[in-house]
Amino acid sequence: MTWETHDDGPIVLAGPTGVGKTTVARALAADRDRFVFSVSATTRRPRPGERDGADYEFVSREEFERMVGAGEFAEWARVHDQLYGTPLRNLAGDDGRRVLLDIDVQGAAQVRGNVPSAVFVFLLPPSLGTLLTRLSGRGTEPRNEIARRLGVARDELARVPEFDHVLVNDDLDATVAAVRAIARGDGSAAGSPGAAREEAEALRRGISTLLARDFDILSE
Ligand code: 5GP
Repeated sequence: MTWETHDDGPIVLAGPTGVGKTTVARALAADRDRFVFSVSATTRRPRPGERDGADYEFVSREEFERMVGAGEFAEWARVHDQLYGTPLRNLAGDDGRRVLLDIDVQGAAQVRGNVPSAVFVFLLPPSLGTLLTRLSGRGTEPRNEIARRLGVARDELARVPEFDHVLVNDDLDATVAAVRAIARGDGSAAGSPGAAREEAEALRRGISTLLARDFDILSE
């Protein structure tokens, strides 16, 4: 199946925590004529500045479980001990706009099974150092939490071959332009997938080395 057949399906943006998926999705969604951001439901608490209904639909665990039972999700997953899901109604996209999903790799795999028209984009951090900085938060995260996040990122990177497009999120404008090109069906403008896949594999190996050398908790 080629992406030319996917010229109106939702665009799934996945990638490790802190890679900038939400920023990219928000920048694209600012173009309201072409894109619409899929607001997920989540059981996690709002962070300062987040608005219910705009950033997420913040729901109780009971409400989330009801939605699961009622078949209201296109996909859902547990991420960092909280539940996140894409309401099916978000995928209707009947006004010609492309729906943007900012979800984790488990959710992306479910969308792959349920929504054949979807296009899958994996965002990579520009380097291992950048990933480490972003996963470390403001330097307040304990070592074992950083090691855990690195372990999760390594597992996510192992799933890069499942994606249609792989982009290094080095520069916001360039990444946004590349996703726009993908949305137009011009995947070649998004750069060489082979090189990006090799970069993903190098990052994955780098994380393994780092974990084995500097963090004894999650070493392979
Ligand atoms: P955060 O809590 O930092 O906003 O998001 C944590 C992770 O959950 C991110 O990787 C984000 O992409 C993912 N996520 C957000 N919404 C959904 C969703 O509806 N489904 C899935 N599977 N993951 C989601």
